Amino acid sequence: MSSTIIIKNATVVSVDDVLGTIPNCDVLVEDGLIKAVGPGLGYPPAATVLDGTNAIVSPGFIDTHRHTWQTQLKTIGADYVLSDYILNLRQIYGASYSVHDAYLGNFCGALDSIDNGITYLIDHSHIANSPDHADAAIRGLQDARIRATFCYAMYANPHWSGSCMEKEREEATPDWRLEDVRRVATQFFATSQPDDLLRLGFALSEPDMTPIDRLVHEIDFARSIGCKVITGHFNFGKWDPGNFIVRQFAQRGILGPDLLFSHGNTMADDELDAIAKHGCGISSTPDTEFQMGMSHPHSRLEIGAVPKSQMKRASNVPMDDVKATRDYMVDTINVINQRRKVNRAKLS
Ligand SMILES: [Zn+2]
Repeated sequence: MSSTIIIKNATVVSVDDVLGTIPNCDVLVEDGLIKAVGPGLGYPPAATVLDGTNAIVSPGFIDTHRHTWQTQLKTIGADYVLSDYILNLRQIYGASYSVHDAYLGNFCGALDSIDNGITYLIDHSHIANSPDHADAAIRGLQDARIRATFCYAMYANPHWSGSCMEKEREEATPDWRLEDVRRVATQFFATSQPDDLLRLGFALSEPDMTPIDRLVHEIDFARSIGCKVITGHFNFGKWDPGNFIVRQFAQRGILGPDLLFSHGNTMADDELDAIAKHGCGISSTPDTEFQMGMSHPHSRLEIGAVPKSQMKRASNVPMDDVKATRDYMVDTINVINQRRKVNRAKLS
């Protein structure tokens, strides 16, 4: 059955160079698609009319880096630096997550995203404590009906007595996640069309803890099974051990637009140039990066290496993309101001 919705008299921030920002504007939606934008639009009598007076209507945010499973741990790491986060969130809480915890985190996190204006998210999902955990995380996104790319992460939480990890599986088949991505690709993402709500992506083993040949193998594998986004954590400011992994990727000719580098605060100039040249993305997470001592969010607008979005982990900062965007802009202005040479004589 067809359905028509019209939003009347809103301020439409179109983020379109031609349309611009339009006051007292209507938006006509038919069968889930925007059909017209403009003042005084006509509509059928059966349409649902929403009063947009004093409201802003804009495209949804795109969240390019979220560990959605962490939703129920929201703000628990408000005073963490990176090492606290790795110890507590990844190695203790993560390893303690049951299958149902993984489902709830992703289901509630996806609803939380929608509530904050995020209509598409990339879920960097390092909560595959078992194949059932991976399935539960996927079902959480499916049930919330959010548009997302589920990036199956290769990271293995440690197994310890009382954890939700299976010691035998981790020790006997440490590569089981790689084969499990192939399983979920068949089971959940067989069609993988551009208009599917949920698509399959891949999150690399932690790059600074992984041999380069293994990372290259993972990228080749992810591409071979049709993963749409391949992401990972890179170059965390003072935590960066100086492996220049992006440079090594460039030398091996594997950079491409499907690669999304999260953070990248201390990437070398040649790495940023390579990212821009090959159309890769950088996902900047300003508030997390400030808090955890990862240095400045990257402000390399001049080379076109524009962050594809700004987001953060769920555990230590609020779910507010507008705040994250403001943080990024303020930091960019700060970096530019620091580069300027101030003529003190003229100021006095
Ligand atoms: Zn992350």
